[in-house]
Amino acid sequence: MSRTAAERAVVVGASLAGLRGAESLRRAGFAGSLTVVGAEPHRPYDRPPLSKHVLTGEVAADATALPNLVPLDAQWKLGVAATGLDRANRAVRLADGSRLAYDRLLIATGARARSWPNPHEGRLAGVHTLRDRADAAALRADLAAGPRRVLVVGGGFIGCEVASGCRALGLPVTLVEPAPTPLARVLGTHLGAVIGAIHAARGLDLRCGAEVEWLEDDGRGRVARAHLAGGGAIEADIVVIALGVVRNTDWLDGAGLSADEGGLDCDAAGHALDADGRPDTRIAAAGDVARFPHPLYGGARVALEHWGHAIEQAEHAGRLLAGGAPGKPYGALPTFWSTQHRLNIKSVGLTKGADGLVIAQGSPEEGRFLAVYGRAGRCIAAVSVDCARWLPAYAAQVADRAPFPPISAATDQPARLAVLAPGLS
Ligand SMILES: Cc1cc2nc3c(=O)[nH]c(=O)nc-3n(C[C@H](O)[C@H](O)[C@H](O)COP(=O)(O)OP(=O)(O)OC[C@H]3O[C@@H](n4cnc5c(N)ncnc54)[C@H](O)[C@@H]3O)c2cc1C
Repeated sequence: MSRTAAERAVVVGASLAGLRGAESLRRAGFAGSLTVVGAEPHRPYDRPPLSKHVLTGEVAADATALPNLVPLDAQWKLGVAATGLDRANRAVRLADGSRLAYDRLLIATGARARSWPNPHEGRLAGVHTLRDRADAAALRADLAAGPRRVLVVGGGFIGCEVASGCRALGLPVTLVEPAPTPLARVLGTHLGAVIGAIHAARGLDLRCGAEVEWLEDDGRGRVARAHLAGGGAIEADIVVIALGVVRNTDWLDGAGLSADEGGLDCDAAGHALDADGRPDTRIAAAGDVARFPHPLYGGARVALEHWGHAIEQAEHAGRLLAGGAPGKPYGALPTFWSTQHRLNIKSVGLTKGADGLVIAQGSPEEGRFLAVYGRAGRCIAAVSVDCARWLPAYAAQVADRAPFPPISAATDQPARLAVLAPGLS
């Protein structure tokens, strides 16, 4: 690709990855025109506070704008979704009927909350999902009205954070999760049980191994109760559906790229792959929408939902599209944090496939600990609960694929590192 000022870069998705990717293009010297397209009517804003401080009313939903770190000199097309991609003619189709020509395209369309499978029930007043600013404002308003009980459906990170925020407001909350513990998919059932006990001790009515089958209305269009598979019902006038996400790739239908609701496939460098597995070197993807081979995990394709990853991959993609570091693989160590009941949970690496777990620092009993996950004799992830100061040392071991179990007998460690079953399926 030539690097002239006449070139056109388009970024689709005006959120964290879109903004940081656009900034990176400029930082890397891209001098052509830059257009950022966003389906939402807002300039980029941060999502992590939405399930934490916004729900509790500490921060207003519209007060999480992301700072601009670099002058962008960009055109913003906000409140208009991209509806199609014409790769043959290098143009993005927009919902207002217009087309945007590109020479370089960054796809950063992220993900949306998976909706309740029954659309009629999902539309009842009081039924919420939580992904964007409007969702958070609507849920906050409903919570502030003083519901009788909040039901959270799904015990992943968003579900756990919502439950925690509702308890902080003093509201009665039930969380229903089909797995044996909350956070079982990401942390496994061993740590999931520890986190579950913390929630239960803070007054959450935790129903694991249970499933919501259908939602009943009150005859006036508002949800009244949830019926469980196998019998029984939970009275609740607010229901938060927290069933994970669907990647926003539908607008790419017909573009000949390899994409589905699990993400847009990329090569190791970050270029989008076509249906035959060939990279389109004019297109890169970053953030929640991208599914890419991670070098730390044997090249297995992963799609992450991590704030830090969205930034790092977007910065990489910006450099890539600007013509810098061609072919350089992206492989930043995945990192994530969550806040529940004022506990700070942080993780590095990916737990998928872990066959062992050790509590390497602290202990669940004292409420502060760090767990290391291993697979086939190597450290693959570490999770800290209220003791992030230990995390960098273990992050280095994960990044270096250090032997598992990790080094023991440090003065501040438990006497013996017992290898436990993480309980990941
Ligand atoms: C409530 C909540 C709490 C979170 N908390 C944490 C946390 O504590 N720690 C952590 O590490 N991560 C957290 N995350 C995850 C983190 O926010 C995401 O990883 C990050 O937002 C990903 O950024 P992104 O730009 O890739 O995607 P998104 O933020 O999803 O942005 C994609 C943007 O693209 C737009 N878009 C979609 N389709 C189109 C289209 N066709 N045309 C134009 N625009 C389109 C969307 O409207 C959206 O604005 C949280 C996420 C949520 C929702």
